[in-house]
Amino acid sequence: MTTSISWVARAEAVAPEVRPFIDGAHRDPRSDKVFVDTGPRDGSPLVEVPNGDATDIDAAVAAARTAFDDGRWSHRSPRSRRRVLLAFADAIEAHRDELALLESLDVGKPIGDALRADVPGCANTIRWYAEAIDKMYDEVAPTGPDAVALVRREPVGVVGAVIPWNYPLILAAWKIGPALAAGNTCVLKPAEQSPLSALLLGSLAVEAGLPDGVLNVVPGDGPSAGEPLGRHRKVDAVTFTGSTEVGRRFLMYAAESNLKEVALELGGKSPQVVFADCSDLDAAAKAIAWGIFYNAGQTCHAGSRLVVEASIEDELLEGVARTAAMLQPGDPLDPGTKMGAIVSAEQHARVSRYLDLGRQEADVRVGGAAAHPVDGGFYIEPTVFVGVDNRMQIARDEIFGPVLTVHRFDGHPDRAVALGNDTDYGLAAAVWTSDVTRAHRVARELRVGTVWVNTFDIADLSTPFGGYKASGFGGRDRSLHAFEHLTQLKTTWINVGR
Ligand code: NAD
Repeated sequence: MTTSISWVARAEAVAPEVRPFIDGAHRDPRSDKVFVDTGPRDGSPLVEVPNGDATDIDAAVAAARTAFDDGRWSHRSPRSRRRVLLAFADAIEAHRDELALLESLDVGKPIGDALRADVPGCANTIRWYAEAIDKMYDEVAPTGPDAVALVRREPVGVVGAVIPWNYPLILAAWKIGPALAAGNTCVLKPAEQSPLSALLLGSLAVEAGLPDGVLNVVPGDGPSAGEPLGRHRKVDAVTFTGSTEVGRRFLMYAAESNLKEVALELGGKSPQVVFADCSDLDAAAKAIAWGIFYNAGQTCHAGSRLVVEASIEDELLEGVARTAAMLQPGDPLDPGTKMGAIVSAEQHARVSRYLDLGRQEADVRVGGAAAHPVDGGFYIEPTVFVGVDNRMQIARDEIFGPVLTVHRFDGHPDRAVALGNDTDYGLAAAVWTSDVTRAHRVARELRVGTVWVNTFDIADLSTPFGGYKASGFGGRDRSLHAFEHLTQLKTTWINVGR
């Protein structure tokens, strides 16, 4: 792998395209406002980016609308769309270093993670949906001899995709992969903290053969660009990933405009439930530490609450502390770094407030402070609070930083399940036990979209991802189920009666 010195040199030379990508090209923005995209690695400005507003969104939606309505993409055969999307995936891979560098600079994530996980995750997602689309069949309903009733999936039309900053490339692909494969056109709005990789995706798609106007990318903050997209009457569906608070707004925007479809992937406060009969406490400890500290805890399904049976708490926490010691924050541009920065000064201040609160409410077992591997950057030590009551604020709020709260339970397994479920969220959970009956029972009783048993965070594009309760609404990302909220069912009756 390239050394950290050369990544730093490459970072200094980087000159990303920042103009909105509309109708097949980067265009001068209509909005005259800009925002400063700050690099969390050292807190210095990376670049000024046009702060797209309603006029830029209008232009992007108009391009997407025309491209959808004239059928330049939606009327193509699935095989033809497949060919273009496979070329798009290849182009993403061919630009691996450039995309990974932009992702690392924007988000502060380790360059090694961006190279090994984010860029391949993006390319593989586009490829998976490309490969899927020409293998999908529609239905003929069993209506009887006098009619043939066809039930077909049609693209929903213009899709607005709004994503957060924690995995910009992967989440963009989870949205545009199935949307484009199904024949929709898209307007993608990346988060204002991390617009750079998405803007490059736009031009790579067109170079790979995607017709103009099919994928448009508008950078801008939430109120300036996100809200007009959510309220736009010519947008047929919005697929959103982000906070629960903003998710609620998208429901309102839809209700107050054209009742567009809305699919929401939102926050989490995922429990890892460990029973005393767990057969490999060492493996559990490693998975628990990685499950909360990967991406500096800025992961929606991070295992942020550890629910542990009292008799094994000490041994388990020793293991968690050992792994945490290996995950100290480092320079994101050093290929050896395992944990990078917090995305912004605001997010750093927010997580720091929870550290203060945690010190008042509970006891610090590991970390608990800011770190300074690169001057001016935003870093927090992996932190573990013990003696946490589930009513405390650190146990209830999604902190979105490298902070684990530990909740001890004694006695009946139902107590652990109740603790696990005692949250507004329902994105994911894990259960660690060697009792197969208990594993199944607890997995069934946890009210979440994904449960892992004796592991954490294994994933595959073939499995749906999304949440119960305040973690999600209206659809799932990944797998063939993603097509459900990005298509509509049309029934056509044909009279064949005599
Ligand atoms: P956020 O909700 O603040 O922002 C997400 C996106 O919404 C950004 O593009 C932002 O510009 C836009 N936005 C903000 N305010 C808006 C408004 N008023 N109107 C329209 N758009 C607006 O979230 P964030 O801080 O960027 O990301 C962190 C959140 O995302 C966490 O809650 C995390 O759990 C969640 N998340 C969920 C998943 C999942 O799949 N469930 C995945 C990743 C992140």
